[in-house]
Amino acid sequence: MSQSTPLQLPDATTDKFGRPMRDLRISVTDRCNFRCTYCMPAEIFGERYEFLPKPEILNFEEIERLARIFVGLGVNKLRITGGEPLVRAQLPALIERLVTIVGVEDVALTTNGFLLAKMAADLKQAGLQRITVSLDSLDEEVAKKMSGRPYGPEKTLEGIEEAARVGLAPIKIDAVVQRGENEHTIVDMARRFRGTGHIVRFIEYMDVGNRNGWKLDQVVTAMEIIERIGEEFPLEPVEPNYRGEVATRYRYKDGSGEIGVIASVSMPFCGDCTRARLTTDGRLVTCLFASGGKDLKSLLRGGASDEEIAAAISAVWSNRSDRYSELRESNTDWSGGDAGGSEGEKRKKIEMYQIGG
Ligand code: SAM
Ligand code: SF4
Ligand code: SF4
Repeated sequence: MSQSTPLQLPDATTDKFGRPMRDLRISVTDRCNFRCTYCMPAEIFGERYEFLPKPEILNFEEIERLARIFVGLGVNKLRITGGEPLVRAQLPALIERLVTIVGVEDVALTTNGFLLAKMAADLKQAGLQRITVSLDSLDEEVAKKMSGRPYGPEKTLEGIEEAARVGLAPIKIDAVVQRGENEHTIVDMARRFRGTGHIVRFIEYMDVGNRNGWKLDQVVTAMEIIERIGEEFPLEPVEPNYRGEVATRYRYKDGSGEIGVIASVSMPFCGDCTRARLTTDGRLVTCLFASGGKDLKSLLRGGASDEEIAAAISAVWSNRSDRYSELRESNTDWSGGDAGGSEGEKRKKIEMYQIGG
């Protein structure tokens, strides 16, 4: 069997709610050059924080092999994420491997964009198709505060420009919206990228992990975001591109482009969730809010065959019943500001930098 041929396995991998496995988000590093307050707060992830030692991290051969097995089970989209994926050495070489896997229709990458200007051409050359750049605000001080680093938005903006120049377009620009932090800058973001062809997507701040001190009253709902932008630039809803699309789409009535909102807190979309996640150290995670994951690295390194690994993945997915956000929403009292959470608010959850959003 050639390295790029997918396994021929029955596409029987649906979970307890009949959801197939279609997307695989691959976290290629747990390290990051930012310390976003909502993801890796600097007071916790300081100088002494111990990230994964190199031997624990999957190498490119291992990632490619696992990706091929996932594709054999029905996955057709791969998204490279982190931590910050652009700090992983030789990343374009991984992309070259992933794009040759037969059955992969889409390879995308999510980055904070800080290193993008110098890497965009190599990423494109390696075969990357799409890119999502995270940028929370154009305001110098707000961007610095939210990224936890003394960097304003400039480097990321240069990265976006270079990505567009080399043809990684249309570019998606993701902004997490936090009340009291950047909600006053969302209209500026919309204004800046109208007419560029790039799509800004505003993400409701989520209670991922246990370290960001999330509170319901810090969430600015998608509805509120749309109302605020719509007051300045009239908007109308657009049909989803495909079932399970995470962003709800709106377009400017004057034809100057579109924006999206990711309403994971106020309007959860677990019913269509087809996303599996692979952590940097090779664990399969079936939900953003999971507590742990299935260790695939031990199987890989213990000499298991592709078929044995595929069977292990199938067993996990067919047992999957995750719908954390739906349960949280149904327990939430929006009027009183009480987020009910689910299965015990305080249980240990995996952190965003380990699974990449
Ligand atoms: N470092 C890359 C980046 O920032 O784009 C990739 C990994 S990052 C974990 C992926 C996405 O998750 C980013 O867009 C980030 O803003 C988002 N994110 C992180 N923590 C979040 C939270 N608590 N709520 C909502 N989105 C969050
Ligand atoms: Fe780093 Fe991305 Fe997390 Fe920010 S959101 S700390 S850029 S991994
Ligand atoms: Fe998917 Fe879990 Fe998010 Fe629901 S809460 S959409 S199951 S990742």
